[in-house]
Amino acid sequence: MTASEKETIYTFLEKSASWLKGYKVKLLDEVSFEDDFETIVKTEAPSQNTAAVQINNEPRENELNQEKEINTETTNPDETENIAEKKEQKLAALAQKIEACTNCILHQKRTLTSPGNGVFSPFVLVIGNAPNEIDNTTGSTFEGKSGELLDKMLSAIHLSKKINTYLTNIVKCMPPMNREPMPDEASACSGFLEAQIHTLKPSAILVLGRSAAQNILETSEGINTLREKWFEYNSIPLMVTFHPNDVLKNETLKRPVWEDLKVFRSKLLEINSEYDKSFKDEQLKGI
Ligand code: SF4
Repeated sequence: MTASEKETIYTFLEKSASWLKGYKVKLLDEVSFEDDFETIVKTEAPSQNTAAVQINNEPRENELNQEKEINTETTNPDETENIAEKKEQKLAALAQKIEACTNCILHQKRTLTSPGNGVFSPFVLVIGNAPNEIDNTTGSTFEGKSGELLDKMLSAIHLSKKINTYLTNIVKCMPPMNREPMPDEASACSGFLEAQIHTLKPSAILVLGRSAAQNILETSEGINTLREKWFEYNSIPLMVTFHPNDVLKNETLKRPVWEDLKVFRSKLLEINSEYDKSFKDEQLKGI
């Protein structure tokens, strides 16, 4: 729904209330309207010619190509199957280690660990802060409202955990009261994230939220400073944007998130102009 549609409904409700009461009614003291995320996306289809952004540590061409080769290294179906099987085994072994881990205090109150969700040869790896309450009881990652919003954000740039993306967090156990992970907890868990990145070999990384960004980039800079720049993680291009939880709390962040996603998509197209082919194929099947 657009901001102006919301405003029209609000005005109608206010007028109806005034008519019923017989005097002018003000429903809310302060009111502002924002476009829904889907509306922003619909009115601005992703473009390949996104405006230039500040580039920090631009990845070297040959390294990008190497990463691309790893994910598209063979056209032999048997070999591809073999690689996928090996990755699945490695990730399953890692998940068992995570399940048994007591490296930080977060193990004390967890119900289930939440290693990650998605395809085993992802084009993109998405890294958030920490599992939420639903993840804690299901062992899944990015469930609930923030997960639904994340799915919409990713779908807008032709990414999906079912097709070309893997989702994880910097810590694999839920912090108490859903607080952000502390630096020592993130540090204790960093070996698992490193192993996941090494096994998954994504071509690009999208980091969600201040806590994840600060811990991965080992910086104390705020998220507004870290956005709109490119970084590298082991030569993999990495970009930071707001966490879906931030957007759920503050709707005005939808626009900057969409701007970040457009820049991110233009980098994905630069790495592989056909990165979203399977996504589009799946969409066509659904029509
Ligand atoms: Fe281990 Fe990571 Fe869980 Fe801490 S958050 S107990 S380091 S798996």
